[in-house]
Amino acid sequence: MTKYIFITGGVVSSLGKGIIAASLGRLLRARGFSVINQKFDPYINVDPGTMSPFQHGEVFVTDDGAETDLDLGHYERFTDTNLGKYNNVTSGSVYRHVIEKERRGDYLGGTVQVIPHITNEIKSRILGATKQFKPDFQLIEIGGTIGDIESLPFIEAIRQFKVEAGIGNAISVHTTLIPYLPTSGELKTKPSQHSVSVLRSYGIQPEILVCRTSRAIPKSEREKLALFCSVPKEAVLECRDMKSIYEVPLALEEQNMAGVVLKMLMVEDRVPDLEGWKNLVEKIKHPSGTLTVGIAGKYTKLSDAYISVVEALKHAGCKNDVKVEIKWINSEECNDYKNCRELLKDISAIVVPGGFGVRGIEGKLNVIRYARENNLPFLGLCLGMQCAVIEYARNVLGLKGANSTEFDENATYPVIDLMLEQKNVQGYGGTMRLGAYDCSLKVGSRAYKAYGTDLISERHRHRYEVNNEFIERLFDAGLVFSGMSPDGMLAEIVEIPKLDWFVASQFHPEFKSRPDRPHPLFDGLIEAACKQAKSKGILK
Ligand code: GLN
Repeated sequence: MTKYIFITGGVVSSLGKGIIAASLGRLLRARGFSVINQKFDPYINVDPGTMSPFQHGEVFVTDDGAETDLDLGHYERFTDTNLGKYNNVTSGSVYRHVIEKERRGDYLGGTVQVIPHITNEIKSRILGATKQFKPDFQLIEIGGTIGDIESLPFIEAIRQFKVEAGIGNAISVHTTLIPYLPTSGELKTKPSQHSVSVLRSYGIQPEILVCRTSRAIPKSEREKLALFCSVPKEAVLECRDMKSIYEVPLALEEQNMAGVVLKMLMVEDRVPDLEGWKNLVEKIKHPSGTLTVGIAGKYTKLSDAYISVVEALKHAGCKNDVKVEIKWINSEECNDYKNCRELLKDISAIVVPGGFGVRGIEGKLNVIRYARENNLPFLGLCLGMQCAVIEYARNVLGLKGANSTEFDENATYPVIDLMLEQKNVQGYGGTMRLGAYDCSLKVGSRAYKAYGTDLISERHRHRYEVNNEFIERLFDAGLVFSGMSPDGMLAEIVEIPKLDWFVASQFHPEFKSRPDRPHPLFDGLIEAACKQAKSKGILK
């Protein structure tokens, strides 16, 4: 029978609830239990797919093509479990479903209300995921902060669910902040006490407290929290700020978080296998050198916009025994090619990630040209691949008007064009080519060697594609199409074999990278960059 763990947050937002939920998932997985994480987001958007990365950070894409919250990326990376559309629930999707049912007449003329109709739908989303995955543990994180008006239906649904599940089958973990006041030199517990009392006023008594803090919480303060919040002492846990998010599971393990959770859920504890994770953290903490990798995009002011790319680079760095330092390059600053040398001179590799719209495109083309002409290891992702094709067409094939019809509808040479299946698509939400598709690799190519197989599956999120009319000409000019959809109709990977690493994919490899299993294309990029850095004496 599945056991349920609800994770709420109090005092402030951005506490890292997602990392804590993912870390607890890791600790349970390390004990051989199956785990899924779910994220409940109280906003009205049906999914984050239509939101600006500046507002919401990256949109994480699952195998089944759901556009989801970036926390699902953390969950997948920490628990090594592929999630899907049932794992992210928004108020928008809940209300939409209930309103559709009402319009169909399913409620037989009854008044449709937040309680019970909306709360029932929320509970059915919990059970829907249980039915699909049948996990030993289901961890459900509620976005936002306790006290927010918009998350109330979710909190009420949890209250009901906990009662219905019965004692020992569902618990809640409340994550709070313990601020440090420099003037008095003290850590303060009062905001957490207030936050717990708000949660209690909704009928939820948390079983566990996870206290985010910048410094060690003295025993006396922990005891105070236990007393005032009615939580056992061993269930008041501290989660200090850490250099790497991958250290969090180990810090929580030291305080026996999983042991406490299992006891409350009346499940016998098992000996965890955290050896691999400990090795990973050791490698992250003690790299043999540092490698600077550039990311050239237009959302560089908010690093969350490219979080899976950043994590994938870190994973590959760890495998190659280097710390990857990111240099954010605002592509608009590269609109003039002359700036590229200065901006890219101290980096060992460059990534051009995905994106939408014309802003910053000329800069990305210049960055790619610089990488190609100077043998700077390059990885292009989705839009990054489309730009690599445009750049090659313009500067190697000499097709001066080459462009994507996304940026210029009347391009003289539309080397990137809207996919046929997209031509009649109406509306924006969930209408791109989304999720996992197979791709055949050309035997002997860079991609083939990196993956070690000729058939792969990768996640997509795009409307445009390489225009097949130009493939032959590009190929004759030296651009190898090393990955194609199995029917040969869609270009999925391009590469330039004579360079050390110049590979770009139409899909998003970053979504499938795992801390202990870096994605082959990221690994290839970092390996090539390390080799170059060693030969230049930058790395030992
Ligand atoms: N804008 C491009 C497209 O829709 C690329 C999308 C992306 O990078 N995710 O095809």
